[in-house]
Amino acid sequence: MIAIMVYRPDGPGPGRLSEVRLDVGVTGPAEMSCAEVTVRDERGGDLLGGPDLVFDPAAGGGPLATAQAERQARAFGIGNAVYWAQQLLRRVNSALRHPLPPLLLRIGMHGTPSRWGGGHYRLPGVASPAEPNQLSATGEVHLGGGRAYLPKAKDGGNAYFHAPAHNSAIVLHEVGHHICRHTADFRVNRRRPAGDQHNGKIALDEGTSDFLTAFMLGTPDIYRWQRGQLPPTDPRRRLLRAGATMAHLRPGSGGLAHSNGTIWASALWTAYQRVLDSGADKDRFLRMVIRGMAGLGATEAPTADEQFRRTQFCELLAETVAVDPALAPTVLAAMAEHGIKPDTSNVELREQLRADRARVVH
Ligand SMILES: [Zn+2]
Repeated sequence: MIAIMVYRPDGPGPGRLSEVRLDVGVTGPAEMSCAEVTVRDERGGDLLGGPDLVFDPAAGGGPLATAQAERQARAFGIGNAVYWAQQLLRRVNSALRHPLPPLLLRIGMHGTPSRWGGGHYRLPGVASPAEPNQLSATGEVHLGGGRAYLPKAKDGGNAYFHAPAHNSAIVLHEVGHHICRHTADFRVNRRRPAGDQHNGKIALDEGTSDFLTAFMLGTPDIYRWQRGQLPPTDPRRRLLRAGATMAHLRPGSGGLAHSNGTIWASALWTAYQRVLDSGADKDRFLRMVIRGMAGLGATEAPTADEQFRRTQFCELLAETVAVDPALAPTVLAAMAEHGIKPDTSNVELREQLRADRARVVH
């Protein structure tokens, strides 16, 4: 067990700075590991060599910070990322009753030619941007080193360099994709060659990852730190909310997976609240979500059929409620508020809801 500093979600901005004792080891000059995840800063330097691992986030460090502040900020990022990844993966492994393949999380990736402020989950195969190195066969999370400063807080706080590893929501969302890959396996990658995996994400993948983030942070407003200035209904805010229904579903793929995913994430959040109201505990609902995904990914139909089936909200709903029949009526009622119903395709759900709305208006 080592003592490190992390951001807990109950605080403004990036969260409340807290010391935690964590079951991880220091396994390199810029690397921490446990059974579930290895986190490494790829930009070089001895970040973790000293006797003390309680680092200052140093407002994210960044190009204007001193070398000492930048070193503190990067070391803090390793600790914050390993903490949140471990917390989520341990809960999921316990829900599944078996461990997912270990995850490699690399910080400071894709920093040239320009700085990168995002995160992604990658499997070996075609990807954009192209990956410079061989990737782990079981999947990797890559975080950029940060690209920009967040605007100064209204209370006069300092400008913060938005290092993705300091943003617990970005870490959790990308770890969520690893969980999806090894449960629902939305792209049926298990049947593809190990070196030719499909890296595209569908709405259910994005939505489940956002829900898992909200579950861990205890808030539906997961990206409020960097996107809090956007209106709550702006799709880029990705706030999990009651008004996100299948009427908002935009057909096609491409850049719409995140906003379409908000519908699924919001419906899961509503269902989760109702389940808590009924007196059931939070891990019971997580068990439904995770085992439901494992159920979706366990079928043996031909690949083309499976690829379509696994995009359908109603199919994942059916697998989810089958996990816990006693909670099924509660979850089905909550999902119906978002226009998600059994045995009805995504397109039919959208058309039904739009027709209902037109009837009310006329
Ligand atoms: Zn990458």
